[in-house]
Amino acid sequence: MSDETGPLVLVVEDEPQMRRLLRASLGSHGFRLLEAGTTADALRLVTSAHPDIVLLDLGLPDGDGLELARQLREWTLVPIVVVSARGREDDKVAALDAGADDYLTKPFGVNELLARMRVALRHAERARSHEPAPVLTFGGLTIDRTRREVTLDGAPVHLTPIEYRLLLLLAEHAGRVLTHRQILKEVWGPAQQNQTHYVRVHMAELRKKIEAEPARPKLLLTEPGVGYRLRDEPPKAGPS
Ligand code: CA
Repeated sequence: MSDETGPLVLVVEDEPQMRRLLRASLGSHGFRLLEAGTTADALRLVTSAHPDIVLLDLGLPDGDGLELARQLREWTLVPIVVVSARGREDDKVAALDAGADDYLTKPFGVNELLARMRVALRHAERARSHEPAPVLTFGGLTIDRTRREVTLDGAPVHLTPIEYRLLLLLAEHAGRVLTHRQILKEVWGPAQQNQTHYVRVHMAELRKKIEAEPARPKLLLTEPGVGYRLRDEPPKAGPS
């Protein structure tokens, strides 16, 4: 049975084999598909068909997917998940800084792709609603943004203003990796974009206050060479 109302995905990919794989695996999970093999086709389809999410290859015959991501970000917040054979840290940072929401390296598992897409779609949905949840909860951690209060298993956690902003930023983008540059820009301001040690130092302090084992964090995860991600697990259904 096909689901005519599933999210519309634009697959920007020039390799026929990869397109077949994505068509089969996304189609069987209720997604509707549009396909583009060039940046020019992709741009046209984003403009005319308004997809819910874009899967973006970087090496395309008529240009670089990174440039397309930058162009799209000038006027649309459509979630962009880069799916590329380029696996270097620099490539990931460049894609995220260009405005991609996430980055997957080929070859990838379909379940991993679906999980990343769900995070990106959920985030876009929240951004569209313009109504940020007053209280964010991650396991035993609660962030009450109206009172600027953080509790861990019910006990108050005392954060400095910087630590609070850092935690809130990651929590607002839960499940997504934020680059050092993005974190610096949001928490410290555009003038501090090269002071990556700020992030390391304050992240270490934040982990001491929030993680049971700061050296082996379960919530505030490091993406080596790229940045940080707050683990986002959907709440379990039913009583725990
Ligand atoms: Ca390619």
